[in-house]
Amino acid sequence: MDFKTFYNFMYKLTCSFEKSKCRTDFIESLESAFSKILSVEKIKIYVLDEFSFVLKDFEKPWENMSDGEENQKIQSVLNSFVGSKENAKLVDNIIYMPIYEETKILGAIKIIPDEITDEQNEIFQIAPLVQKQISYAVLNFKSREKMQLNTKFYQTIRNIAKIIETQYELSYILPILGEMIDSFIYEHLIYIFIKNKNRKEFKLVWPANIKDVKIYNYLEQLTPKSQVMLEREGKVGIFPLLSEQKLLGAIVAYNPFDKLNENEINYLDEISKQASITIERASEYMKVLKDATLDALTGLNNRHQFALRLREETAFAKRQNKPLCCIMTDIDFFKKVNDTYGHAVGDCVLKNVARTIKKELRENDIPSRYGGEEFAILLPYTTLDEATLVAQRLRSAIEKKKINIEEYNIEGVKQLSVTISVGVSLYDKTMKDPEQLYQNADKALYEAKEGGRNQVVVFKA
Ligand code: GH3
Ligand code: MG
Ligand code: MG
Repeated sequence: MDFKTFYNFMYKLTCSFEKSKCRTDFIESLESAFSKILSVEKIKIYVLDEFSFVLKDFEKPWENMSDGEENQKIQSVLNSFVGSKENAKLVDNIIYMPIYEETKILGAIKIIPDEITDEQNEIFQIAPLVQKQISYAVLNFKSREKMQLNTKFYQTIRNIAKIIETQYELSYILPILGEMIDSFIYEHLIYIFIKNKNRKEFKLVWPANIKDVKIYNYLEQLTPKSQVMLEREGKVGIFPLLSEQKLLGAIVAYNPFDKLNENEINYLDEISKQASITIERASEYMKVLKDATLDALTGLNNRHQFALRLREETAFAKRQNKPLCCIMTDIDFFKKVNDTYGHAVGDCVLKNVARTIKKELRENDIPSRYGGEEFAILLPYTTLDEATLVAQRLRSAIEKKKINIEEYNIEGVKQLSVTISVGVSLYDKTMKDPEQLYQNADKALYEAKEGGRNQVVVFKA
């Protein structure tokens, strides 16, 4: 081999990692590099799976190698490299080179030549260099993929963790989980199943419908000891949701055409572990919070408590002939906050709005979280004029408030502001039932929305 040929080959080999976007690209550029020094039909790389020690095709690490004979052959070649100082081997006219991670054998490169020529022997002379260069590239590939996965994954997990800190309703958490997974897995449909109370049947909880009912057959095979299952040649991935030997449900990724890649499998595997914790914690929370009076996210009264206080306060106002008002607020375009910055930021905004409301009120006022982004406030001993002033003060305080969202690492956005629409109503002794008070405030709120939002409307009968 003359120097120029050797140089060209090594140069191409060295660049093959940098220039390749995916593993298949990499193999192709290896083939093109090798074609400078011999006529090559095909190159394959086999790598031992870090966890299972099963041999995998580098291009399709999510697949188990179907050809058992081939698998054994490569395994025995790998074994023959252990403890030997050889950098290449010729077996049945195929060239093999080991891939090392430091001193540990990680896998093998298999070069299938088109025809047998004398030039092949030259490969053995440069094998130490070649084998090191390819080992280096394979390792780099693995860590690059891991890093890409980790950055995105880290942020998703952080967001999930933030959500479960304060949210405990599965019906709220599961769609968020689903959306988060969806934003990472592009081609596959994602389904989340939860086992029902008697833990017998799987119930689809996200999204609303399932396209392929055969998926239920795979779910039937799951046990509390199950690991990730790949079906239909890797096109269906079933990721069990497990908690302390209990099978809680499963996340399923499904695509009739495409296979899940290694990144997606790792990601789904990790996220299903995180989801298991989330689900288990949510059901624990639910047990504890069944009798709670406060809303877990904002610390204000919850809806149930609001209903109780409404009865008490209206009865009192009637008896004592004292004025009582109700303010209903709703954050404007709140869905957009969630959609743009994520639910964790949405939660942070909710907490801040609640805090501002609380700060602006007097000791006797009773603020509650009525629903998602709606707050209801009862104002005992308060006339309609006074309540209207309070409402205006609230609206303006929230508009001015700069909500710090730095900790969510959103590029270019450190602060957010939102506005609220507000409805105000006055209690009237002749009202048939207490609910009428907030229904009137709600009507006024609706008018405030209609009128362009970020404004206060007083209910007039
Ligand atoms: P409008 O100005 O008409 O009120 O528009 P909007 O987007 O605020 O109204 P919409 O009712 O369409 O959306 C309310 C959103 O509030 C949808 C829901 O996902 C979100 N939401 C409800 N509860 C929570 C919560 O606890 N946390 C977060 N982050 N979002 C919530
Ligand atoms: Mg609303
Ligand atoms: Mg709203």
